Amino acid sequence: MIRFENVIKRYGALTVLDGLDIDIARNEKVCIIGPSGSGKTTVLRVLMTLERINGGVIRVDGEPLTHMQKHGQMVPASDRHLRRVRSKIGMVFQHFNLFPHMTALQNCMEAPVSVLGLPKKEAEARAAELLDMVGLGDKKKHFPIQLSGGQKQRVAIARALAMRPKVLLFDEVTSALDPELVGEVLNVIRKLGAEHDLTMLMVTHQMGFAKEFSDRICFFHGGKIVEQGPPEQLLGDPQNERTRQFLSAVL
Ligand code: ATP
Repeated sequence: MIRFENVIKRYGALTVLDGLDIDIARNEKVCIIGPSGSGKTTVLRVLMTLERINGGVIRVDGEPLTHMQKHGQMVPASDRHLRRVRSKIGMVFQHFNLFPHMTALQNCMEAPVSVLGLPKKEAEARAAELLDMVGLGDKKKHFPIQLSGGQKQRVAIARALAMRPKVLLFDEVTSALDPELVGEVLNVIRKLGAEHDLTMLMVTHQMGFAKEFSDRICFFHGGKIVEQGPPEQLLGDPQNERTRQFLSAVL
């Protein structure tokens, strides 16, 4: 479903992704862990085309994200191609990124109407259904400022789902929340994973959740995957010294 082939991302002289290879199957749930600055968030940002890569190829559903075939040659993707491939991916951010002047319902209707061209009535019905699903049926008319952090994050999840993505990216979505609000957000993610046909890629510091939720954990260091495997193996019996050091500091 998602494939990174030798992906390089630099910020000036700093190489943040250093020839990254990763292959994620349809419906797979993958967690990315690793020390601060190891490039975890950058993986999600380049996949969302929020940042340009400097080398390599990213494929979504087999299609190159930033390039396309034209007359038998690979050329930089047109905006239309980019929008089409990108529409398969949704992202939930650490700091929610909701539109502050819109209600929960309007936040979830905005992209389906403006990007997909969905009629307003249809977008509203879809948004209402998703807000019900994340347990916010009674907060549809609330503005972000009237919601708790956990509720805002659940609106952000509903908003991402409103575009019917095949892939959902989560970037430390519980890091900005008070501890007592973390559970409600993780419960929604758990439910999504169990009930929907979604490929999920999650950067997280919640090792307990990563262990229970993911099919695979990737440990990042220096812009590369140093070690990866099923949660019990990676967390319980890490083979790489760097993974061991990191886990002994956080577990
Ligand atoms: P954390 O766990 O602290 O969020 P991370 O593993 O997610 O870290 P990234 O956010 O991917 O790390 O950043 C990797 C490196 O790239 C860091 O050294 C960061 O300072 C640098 N970086 C990220 N974004 C930019 C930018 N827009 N301009 C310059 N440097 C950047």
